[in-house]
Amino acid sequence: MKTALVISPHADDAALFCGGTLAKRAAEGWRVIVARVTNDKRDSVGLTFEETARRNAAELREAAEALGVAEVVELDYNAESLADVSQVELRGRMVYLIRKYRPYAVFSFDPFALYEPNLDHVRAAQAVEEAFWMARFDLPYPEHFEEGLKPFAVCEQWYFARRLPECNHVEDVTGYMEQKVAAGCAHRTMLANILNQCRMLVDAWDGPVPEGAREAFESDPGPLVGAFLMQQAAQTAQEARLEEGRLGEAYRVVRFGDMAGVFEALGFEVTPGT
Ligand SMILES: [Zn+2]
Repeated sequence: MKTALVISPHADDAALFCGGTLAKRAAEGWRVIVARVTNDKRDSVGLTFEETARRNAAELREAAEALGVAEVVELDYNAESLADVSQVELRGRMVYLIRKYRPYAVFSFDPFALYEPNLDHVRAAQAVEEAFWMARFDLPYPEHFEEGLKPFAVCEQWYFARRLPECNHVEDVTGYMEQKVAAGCAHRTMLANILNQCRMLVDAWDGPVPEGAREAFESDPGPLVGAFLMQQAAQTAQEARLEEGRLGEAYRVVRFGDMAGVFEALGFEVTPGT
């Protein structure tokens, strides 16, 4: 059985960025594991830190169930301050996850993404990037070996982003978008915060407000999230020239990691999706 490990800095990242692909892999029989890096204790509106953390953790369980995720692992760092954590420490946690769960594919934010405003995303992605090669070494983090773990090589790195530096693969997720939307909508606490920020932006805007826009930000976020995710998936599929009506998720996929060039020279197929 193949394993997909998703490094999700926050509760909602897994569903929103790669939920369709995760649901597809789970349906194909893969073991899908989501590792949440932070505790999301600051992402809500009108709640305490404790209540925010509690709700976001519970809603992640709901989203994971909708996607067919086998296990949620909590790294429990304080949200919105991952940049205060040592990169060496964070990388060690990622190496540990790779050696423990031995995933064929790891899904993560792209450390070279364009226009990424969230430092938790950046730092988590950078830690994963180094962990890919370091997990194969047999000297770093010897405490892992004392636990019985072994060095491990991840075959495929699947990067997602708000804006990829380069997209070389679009996964056809037609048939799995309903699960993605359900998982995305499970994050009610975070969505309430997003809608609140949208209302603040509408209030700040001094131009004409399109009809229905204010109402969309004031009602149940479900239809808005669903429409946004479906439109995004349709556009991604269209740009990749998938057949009419198909839906896709965009990735930069690296097979054989930093050794891809060597493998290609030897005749291995390094192109994703093949
Ligand atoms: Zn996030």
